[in-house]
Amino acid sequence: MSFLDKVVLITGGSSGIGAATAVAFSREGANVVIVGRNEKKLNDVIEKCTVVGNKPLSIKADITHEGEAERIVKETIEAFQKIDVLVNNAGLVRFAKVLDSHVLETYDLIMNTNLRSQIKLTHLAAPSLIESKGNIINVSSIAPKIKPSNPEMILYGLSKTAFSYFSRAAAAEFAPHGVRVNTVSPGPVETDIMYNAGVNKSVSDTDLKLPLGRISQPEEIADIILYIAGDKAIAITGSDHTIDNGFLLKF
Ligand code: NDP
Repeated sequence: MSFLDKVVLITGGSSGIGAATAVAFSREGANVVIVGRNEKKLNDVIEKCTVVGNKPLSIKADITHEGEAERIVKETIEAFQKIDVLVNNAGLVRFAKVLDSHVLETYDLIMNTNLRSQIKLTHLAAPSLIESKGNIINVSSIAPKIKPSNPEMILYGLSKTAFSYFSRAAAAEFAPHGVRVNTVSPGPVETDIMYNAGVNKSVSDTDLKLPLGRISQPEEIADIILYIAGDKAIAITGSDHTIDNGFLLKF
């Protein structure tokens, strides 16, 4: 039980990578806090976590709404008195080309969700993380490392590029305080992310031709998150861990 009595706050803990990460931390003895908007999905994750570990604290919140990040940190500290690990995982995909009339509206939604909220939560959780000598895992993407050849996806790529940069910058700022900050950059993972973006097919229905001939399940991303968040990774900060079945080998 490598995370016994540790407090792990996971945004986007209601679905996909965040949900798998919540279950994995619960199995290792952690007190997990899951944040999301979909109550049914949050309840499903509570059930799964409770089978393997402690019942998680579930906070229904939209991280982009004013005051919600403050409430998330406040309720976490009230329940568990500390934060050891922050997993900035919540995120979404939306499509807009520069020539589209909705480009700025989409920009605001993507940047608020994938970047601004993560910076805000990091800022608010920092005092507790400094006290606990904890660490942060930022779930970015391989998007910053590929050619911007899909114009529909540039805003997503932009948000993740900025987020990965932020992650390294925060690692440098927090290192003197004993807080590690690392990035996990997945390639395609079988989750609801495309359905949530209004695409009526799953990630695995896309002809991705990944070199390893497979796509990842959320549990594989959870495994690497747990390793980096754990004591065995004591020397790891400012790093970026690609997990993409060889996707980047094609670029
Ligand atoms: P899902 O769509 O399955 O999960 C996204 C999660 O983010 C959900 O729990 C959702 O909560 C939460 N979320 C989104 N917006 C908000 C918001 N405004 N307030 C609170 N919670 C929010 O996708 P994934 O699990 O795939 O995505 C997790 C992360 O992994 C994202 O950052 C994504 O960019 C990244 N990623 C995913 C890849 C993939 O192929 N799946 C590849 C590379 C990176 P709810 O549904 O309850 O609103």
